Amino acid sequence: MTEYTTRVLEGVRNKNAHEPEFLQAVQEVISTIEPVLSAQKKYEENCILERITEPERTIIFRVPWTDDAGRIRINRGFRVEFNSAIGPYKGGLRFHPSVNLGILKFLGFEQVFKNSLTTLAMGGGKGGSDFDPKGKSDTEVMRFCQSFMTELQRHIGADTDVPAGDIGVGGREIGYLFGQYKRLRNEFTGVLTGKALNWGGSLIRPEATGYGCVYFAQNMLATRGDDVSGKVCTVSGSGNVAQYLVEKLNQLGAKVVTMSDSNGTIYDPAGIDAEKLAWVMELKNVRRGRIKEYASQFTGSQYMEGQRPWSIPCDCAFPCATQNEINGEEAAALVKNGCKLVAEGANMPTDLDGISVYLNAGILYGPAKAANAGGVAVSGLEMAQNSQRLNWTREQVDAKLFDIMKNIHENAYNHAHEYCKDCTSDFTNYVAGANIAGFVKVADAMIDQGLV
Ligand code: NDP
Repeated sequence: MTEYTTRVLEGVRNKNAHEPEFLQAVQEVISTIEPVLSAQKKYEENCILERITEPERTIIFRVPWTDDAGRIRINRGFRVEFNSAIGPYKGGLRFHPSVNLGILKFLGFEQVFKNSLTTLAMGGGKGGSDFDPKGKSDTEVMRFCQSFMTELQRHIGADTDVPAGDIGVGGREIGYLFGQYKRLRNEFTGVLTGKALNWGGSLIRPEATGYGCVYFAQNMLATRGDDVSGKVCTVSGSGNVAQYLVEKLNQLGAKVVTMSDSNGTIYDPAGIDAEKLAWVMELKNVRRGRIKEYASQFTGSQYMEGQRPWSIPCDCAFPCATQNEINGEEAAALVKNGCKLVAEGANMPTDLDGISVYLNAGILYGPAKAANAGGVAVSGLEMAQNSQRLNWTREQVDAKLFDIMKNIHENAYNHAHEYCKDCTSDFTNYVAGANIAGFVKVADAMIDQGLV
């Protein structure tokens, strides 16, 4: 670490001591972009690190609502508007009991670099609530969303801040949020992405994060003359990202042997084929059931209560549930069992120890910022279609997603090889490459726009 990065990191630690996930995300970025900071003194002279680690605006608000029994409930709502140097704030809303300011700051910070990598004009933001949609009726979710949007609508807009979904916020929640925004503002605009197709959504948006992550993995494998066909893959999660990631892996001839939720993992050595995946989608999206039911439905599979998938041998691993779901020990188990590639569908699913294990082992490691950027990229395409009042075909959007993921890979690859000493003809440090590529574009825009 240089004197500059040590000083900035110390300052961030002092100011945000009670936000471990945010500190983890900042440390990962700062420690990997040092080569560009040393090569270009303008970033230090303009205090870019000090500014880029401080959100432009943080909004915290009360969300009162009533449950079906008529009881009053209170949750906390947040929107972290992190950086608007290259476009309107853009990033999802998460509804989960674990949500707090530190988690949303980590997600918003990551989003700044991710959105920059997509090459689209989007700044970074994130928001959400500690509300838990699990076990709530549709009418309770609707009343909560309406109350949440009653406050949030003051702060967002199609050219200001455009939220989307994330954990606990899918098509149902986006519908209720959009309806309330339209009612209060009396305008039909592209203020949210992830909308349904019949009222402004984009084809391929639900699939985009999962598909994009597989496209990124394909690009990484191609650098070693390989591809996903025939690979045994472990996947965590069984929500939006995991479902479409499994769909794309199946289409490309891979075999997926695990999915999970916050209670445990199912292991199916025969593979979760298209038919079984359709059953999982119905279970999770319509019946809102638990993944353990899979083991009773499909013989030969087993349910591992309270366990994550990383002890199962695989060629490729795709964490798609949540942050810090792979620690150093689990990363070591993956590598020891022969895993050659990790591509992150979830945000920051591997902790700092785990990342060191991947880098030391020299496996193909696609960090979240790059590997899961397909979701926000297609959100950007949804915004473009809304502005034009046009709908592109499924093939058009998928082709654009495919190209964007190829470009993100190329950009991360090129920046890694330009700046990182540990890169060789057979090894690419995509963490550093993605962070540097994402950083340079935002930092240069901040310098151009003066001290704001
Ligand atoms: P969903 O709510 O659709 O699914 C989340 C899945 O992860 C569920 O299976 C859930 O299990 C599991 N999960 C959630 N929290 C935990 C936890 N603490 N421990 C173990 N499992 C957990 O969310 P998404 O699929 O949309 O999001 C998954 C990840 O992908 C998140 O990290 C999100 O930030 C990231 N992401 C999502 C994008 C998108 O387009 N949706 C874009 C880019 C990143 P359970 O049902 O038990 O809660």
